[in-house]
Amino acid sequence: MSHPPITVTSPLLPPLDEFKELLDDIWEHKRLTNNGHYHKLLEAALSDYLKTPHLSLFTNGTLPLITALQAMNLRSGEVITTPYSFVATTHSLWWNGLTPIFVDVEEETGNIDPALIEEAITPATVAIMAVHVYGTPCDTSAIQAIADKYGLKVVYDAAHAFAVEVNGESILRQGDMSTLSFHATKVYNTVEGGALICPSAESKQHSDQLKNFGFTGELSVIAHGINSKMDEIRAAYGLLNLKQVEVAIASRKKAANIYRAALADTPGIRCIADITGVKHNYSYFPIYIDEAAYGMSRDELYNKLKAEGILARRYFYPVIPDFEAYRNTLSAKAAHIPVARKLAETVLCLPIYAGIEDSTLVRITSIITS
Ligand SMILES: *Cc1c(COP(=O)(O)O)cnc(C)c1O
Repeated sequence: MSHPPITVTSPLLPPLDEFKELLDDIWEHKRLTNNGHYHKLLEAALSDYLKTPHLSLFTNGTLPLITALQAMNLRSGEVITTPYSFVATTHSLWWNGLTPIFVDVEEETGNIDPALIEEAITPATVAIMAVHVYGTPCDTSAIQAIADKYGLKVVYDAAHAFAVEVNGESILRQGDMSTLSFHATKVYNTVEGGALICPSAESKQHSDQLKNFGFTGELSVIAHGINSKMDEIRAAYGLLNLKQVEVAIASRKKAANIYRAALADTPGIRCIADITGVKHNYSYFPIYIDEAAYGMSRDELYNKLKAEGILARRYFYPVIPDFEAYRNTLSAKAAHIPVARKLAETVLCLPIYAGIEDSTLVRITSIITS
């Protein structure tokens, strides 16, 4: 094989010379962490770019999920959530002593199906935790209507939804709180990193305390906080990466359009929906394989691509209740989630990243269509 392997994603890196300049500055000032200069600059720049005025930076995308639940005082009870996500979504409930109640998803988007939420509500239900899977917005108005009716909190795991907007409004402003991940595999990265989108200045201040052990002053600790502060080196790196994220998203969009056009007429292949009114970030390009119509199973296509040096990924397979860590919980046993299982068994995320070459896209689509 003459080609190097093509992976599902390739990280966006800031220009090395510019990063070295910022490192020189950090070395000179010897300020490494604890809400330093670059941390403040990055919080302000992200708040501005994402149109989310009360954004708190975190050290990864999992701790803001855990902290959001803690900030809302959700310490026991049931949370309605999706089985079709990255496992961190459900783990954040476990870390707060909350029981996940898995509700099935919509076939078109992979997001939690609002029509099925109400029947899963019990007197123990305290919140809904939904995920904008692949950056496709959830039906936030339907979810909010249910939450309002039953007095439930709503948390969105928006790890995939960086910069996504619906009719010109940030998706990150929906619900009570939203979280982002800036992991290296995401559209925008700070190597590892994340953020909590808070509804008010007071709420951000509280979250800032919770991510710093619960300190409110030198001698005062008001809560069982964690340490989830972003350091100066990653904040500086993130500032540089933010400058090129629009170009990166445009490059992803071009790739998505090439995939869509090339795969449109292939029987048994369905591409992720391109929903009008949504400013997408093209963070993933999932296709769903209907074995009967396509003539090959998802795993057969996965292996065929792999043999050609193309490493597509089965995101999200298996569904979360099937992981050993959840398999024996009552809520996992009770999970009736046929649509999520179908998606998990038929999905394949194709390589998509800023700068992916047209020739690579042609090579991938011709393997799929031949
Ligand atoms: C990546 C991801 C997370 C976790 O983010 P980390 O930064 O890796 O901790 C959480 N939820 C979803 C849906 C993700 O894709």
